[in-house]
Formats: sequence, C-alpha cells, structure tokens
Amino acid sequence: MTSDKKLKDILHQYGLKGTTARIIVLDVLVQSQVALSHADILSRIHGEDLDKVTLYRTLSSFVSVGLAHKVANEDRNWLYALLLQNNRRVGIDDHAHFICDQCERIYCLPMDAEDTISVPVMDNGFVIRSHEYRLHGTCPECN
Ligand SMILES: [Zn+2]
Ligand SMILES: [Zn+2]
Repeated sequence: MTSDKKLKDILHQYGLKGTTARIIVLDVLVQSQVALSHADILSRIHGEDLDKVTLYRTLSSFVSVGLAHKVANEDRNWLYALLLQNNRRVGIDDHAHFICDQCERIYCLPMDAEDTISVPVMDNGFVIRSHEYRLHGTCPECN
C-alpha cells in the first residue's frame, strides 16, 4: 500500500487532481508488475466503491496525461500499465512488452537505447503514429 500523500504527489506531477477514484486506481497500478484489464483492477479494489464508468474515465485521464498507457492483449482487450518504473518515467517507445505464453501476463520491460529497433522512414503514404516492441516467452513466475 502506497501512502495517499505519495499517490497524490504523483497525480499532481501530471497535473491531475487527487480524487478518491484516481488515488484508488493509481494505488492498484503502482502495486502491479503487469498490465491490468478493467476486470483485473476492479477485482483488486477491495471493498472500494468504484463503478465501471468512473474506472473507465479515471484510466482515460491517466492515459491522456501520459501517466499510463494501453497495451492490447492476445484477445485484443486493452490492459493498462503506468509509464513509471521505480518512480522514473518511461516512454511508450523506449520499453518492451513481454508477453508470457503460459500465464498470458504482459510485463513492461525497460530497454536500453542500443537495444531499440529504429523505425523505418516511410515515404510511400504510410504514416507511423506509434510502434511497439512485443517479446514472447516465459516469465520468471512460470519459469
Ligand atoms: Zn508467466
Ligand atoms: Zn508498457
């Protein structure tokens, strides 16, 4: 459990007010090593009153200010993870998504700059808006 003060500080750094819903959801995301679905988040909010619409709005606010990002899982559902690792900001493009083929959990893993693959320059009408590194294998828990 991270202190409310610390969670509020994080929200303020991103220009968000420290509402109860945001603090609850941020606490769940901070504790998680893996990207979480709406259902995962709801199941981890013990006894807290948070409806689905509020959760959806809260996650959208995190994504819009760059505090969190969305990752599609193999079933094409969106999962959410913070763009923070050990209190340091990570960019969407400078980390990899590791998908465990056994438990299907998705981990955000840091990548060194020299490990990043350069994005091809396109002059044929294709416009690249984002790119993602997806790695498949077995996670430490399943190994
Ligand atoms: Zn696994
Ligand atoms: Zn990620």
